[in-house]
Amino acid sequence: MTEHLVDPEVPRDLHAFIAGLPKAELHVHHVGSASPRIVSELAARHPDSKVPTDPEALVDYFTFTDFAHFIDVYLSVVDLIRTPEDVRLLTYEVAREMARQQVRYAELTITPFSSTRRGIDESAFMDAIEDARKAAEAEFGTVLRWCFDIPGEAGLESAQETARLATDDRLRPEGLVSFGLGGPEIGVARPQFKPYFDRAIAAGLHSVPHAGETTGPQTVWDALTALRAERIGHGTSSAQDPKLLAHLAEHRIPLEVCPTSNIATRAVRTLDEHPIKEFTRAGVLVTINSDDPPMFGTDLNNEYAVAARLLGLDERGLADLARNGVEASFLDAPGKARIKDEIDTYTAAWLAS
Ligand SMILES: [Zn+2]
Repeated sequence: MTEHLVDPEVPRDLHAFIAGLPKAELHVHHVGSASPRIVSELAARHPDSKVPTDPEALVDYFTFTDFAHFIDVYLSVVDLIRTPEDVRLLTYEVAREMARQQVRYAELTITPFSSTRRGIDESAFMDAIEDARKAAEAEFGTVLRWCFDIPGEAGLESAQETARLATDDRLRPEGLVSFGLGGPEIGVARPQFKPYFDRAIAAGLHSVPHAGETTGPQTVWDALTALRAERIGHGTSSAQDPKLLAHLAEHRIPLEVCPTSNIATRAVRTLDEHPIKEFTRAGVLVTINSDDPPMFGTDLNNEYAVAARLLGLDERGLADLARNGVEASFLDAPGKARIKDEIDTYTAAWLAS
């Protein structure tokens, strides 16, 4: 684990346990996973960009003054993804960094509209991500699956286009398992996207919209009723509605919790005020995720350390959290059993040593 990410309030041996713990990640964005190393490689390929190529300078570049600044920086990285080869490089290198953190399985959220709108050929785009997925599985042992998400701020045109790319038999990539909705929530009501989710669900995709990150619990209800959400991206404000928490727990609808992201975007004021404790107390299936890790100065291992501190977990509790991630995934039953076995074997060996 990177030294600056060692939480001083979490014992060092717990950090070491987390670093080796096999994990699944369910809420992490494709472009938002580009580390300074990957961004510098991409920036070197496109010298006309204003993005620095020096990894040291990139660390400063990734220090945000506010949310608007974060969006500017994010879009400048989006601007570096110009060719199918850029797409392949980004995807493959993101998998390499996941593998280093013992991520065995990840559902990576991709926004194909950002690339096709920029003129990248749609079938070349699909070939690039699939090629990276197969190479990553063969070389790093990390299994990748895709969630195609609608960039909410780009309106219904982007929804139409994303649904088409996700459901057209000639384009739809083999690794695609789910359909999402990201971007701002304020002024972007969930129900308007119902026809596109209906289409994706009819094509066999799972529904995983972001909801309740920057708006109240009604947005989560809307995601459940209008978009038939099977998991909720963030769902932070669910804590304000006991009926909603009870519903999520009863119907086993997992929350994709990303603690550091919630602080970075000011969805939650401080980590100590994070509602993760309310979620677990209500019996909701909580999964731990990193969202846009390098941009928020975190990684998945650090998010587990944060969760350990907030929930007071030891090794067994952390292993349960890792199992939740596998359980809430869209892996098939043998795939889930394999990773859960690996978690159990690793934990037992650690505790016996
Ligand atoms: Zn997200």
